[in-house]
Amino acid sequence: MSSYWSDFVKDLEPYSPGEQPQISNITKLNTNENPYGPSPSVIKAITAAADDRLRLYPPPESEDLKQKIADNFNLIASQVFVGNGSDEVLAHVFNGLLNHGQKGPLLFPDISYSFYPVFCQLYAIDYKKIPLEKDFSINVENYQQPNGGIIFPNPNAPTGMLLGLERIEQLLEKNTDSVVVVDEAYIDFGGQTAAALINQYENLLVVQTMSKSRSLAGMRVGYALGSQHLIEGLNRIKNSFNSYPLGHLQVAAAVAAFDDKAHFEDSRQKVISERERVTSQLETMNFDVLPSTANFVLARHRQKSAEDLALLLREQGIIVRHFSKPRIDQYLRVTIGTEHQNNLLIDNLQKIL
Ligand SMILES: *Cc1c(COP(=O)(O)O)cnc(C)c1O
Repeated sequence: MSSYWSDFVKDLEPYSPGEQPQISNITKLNTNENPYGPSPSVIKAITAAADDRLRLYPPPESEDLKQKIADNFNLIASQVFVGNGSDEVLAHVFNGLLNHGQKGPLLFPDISYSFYPVFCQLYAIDYKKIPLEKDFSINVENYQQPNGGIIFPNPNAPTGMLLGLERIEQLLEKNTDSVVVVDEAYIDFGGQTAAALINQYENLLVVQTMSKSRSLAGMRVGYALGSQHLIEGLNRIKNSFNSYPLGHLQVAAAVAAFDDKAHFEDSRQKVISERERVTSQLETMNFDVLPSTANFVLARHRQKSAEDLALLLREQGIIVRHFSKPRIDQYLRVTIGTEHQNNLLIDNLQKIL
């Protein structure tokens, strides 16, 4: 059969997102969603915004949301870029700020967010994976080589391990000719954001999402923070691609989420304390657990194969993530759930083991 696809599409290998099973009574600990749910005021804001105004296009620059985010980080609105989930923001970042063939490859850790190589393929960006140390930490010395940009999640995914701000400053100082992107999808679960360094380093871009700590994965809102020059570059791409990435309801939800600081604090504190509890329970069951500052842990049982454990848990209705990838194929990535979900995980693991 002849294909209508372009040669480019024929060769694409898309990202495969964690599954979203449509079965109820399943314990879903596989895609790092926040189990505690969005603020009630977010639901009210969405309901209040759902009216005849939906016939109008939204403001193309989402000014209200940018101002809200800017205030939250002590920045100005022109230092903020917003998009349809941080995956879309990252796509524009790869295309607009990390695509510098002549300067050298884009650098990122060998174990990190598996969307990065997919974006590289999409935009034909040359990249080089920099191995994590034996203990899975990032060694910034290894990034001192010619490059067209640097990107890494902080805390890293799927390890959950945090890189300190002083190390990030070292990277920024040593790479003033390229953009250093810190993907802070999980920073609110125990790390310190690099956003405070933005006025000091023109080459720093911080990317965050409302999907995890603000429990709005279904709303699709992400943002980037950086110098006006970097943000203007992203705006040029966005306005050549989709002028209205955020609808009225997304903006209303996101603004309300930033306004409810108490809910945000409460939710992230619960995740943090459950993470510490799950970690120590796993350790008593003979798991090695990497030190996580995220809403998940990466853990390896000292005897049992990770793949078998994932299958046995699945038979009990508990889904965790197993990556068949070098270095981490004996690990399971387990999202921190509610107290009840975590107890189910622990009880079932005890039975299996
Ligand atoms: C979840 C995640 C994202 C994407 O978040 P969305 O805003 O939901 O698109 C980006 N980077 C990392 C490292 C993530 O884990």
